[in-house]
Amino acid sequence: MTKITENEFEILKLGNPILRQTARELTKEEILSSEIQGLIPKMWDVMKNAGGIGLAAPQIGISIQLAVIKLESDSERYDNLENSEEFVIFNPKLEVIDEQKQGFWEGCLSVPGLRGYVERPRKLKIKYLNENAVEKEVVVEDFLATVFQHELDHLFGFLYVDRLNSTKDLVFEEELTNIASEKLLD
Ligand SMILES: [Zn+2]
Repeated sequence: MTKITENEFEILKLGNPILRQTARELTKEEILSSEIQGLIPKMWDVMKNAGGIGLAAPQIGISIQLAVIKLESDSERYDNLENSEEFVIFNPKLEVIDEQKQGFWEGCLSVPGLRGYVERPRKLKIKYLNENAVEKEVVVEDFLATVFQHELDHLFGFLYVDRLNSTKDLVFEEELTNIASEKLLD
């Protein structure tokens, strides 16, 4: 965890091996340490500066099971979002509640310029530790369920491109307006 003391974090991109590692869990003592408590606001800064709605620690080169998620109604990257609470998630455990798949055009700060249509289960329960190392449980559905699965995938070495049904579902952002309306009819 040598990078934690750096002020500026660079977002790693597809191809960097750190994005493919399984990140390690933290103990409650580690979560409460000054090092990790100082990292949390930096995660929010990096995420917001990049215009993201979620960020996982491996994306800034720190291979620990930490992700932050906050949906913003004024997001420049995603339309029609409702504000969510701020989630700080350590050591998540996912359980699918509703296997029925739903698809969204996902983007990723580690895969700049591209979007992919990914289908994932529509409802999940997630157990995790929050920023106070307190055990939490949340049920998420719809787009928030996709965001959780996308971000938590980062903690286990997966990117959304691994979840595509077809490489034909991978497009440049500027082409999305031409085909998004078709996909919504599915
Ligand atoms: Zn991502």
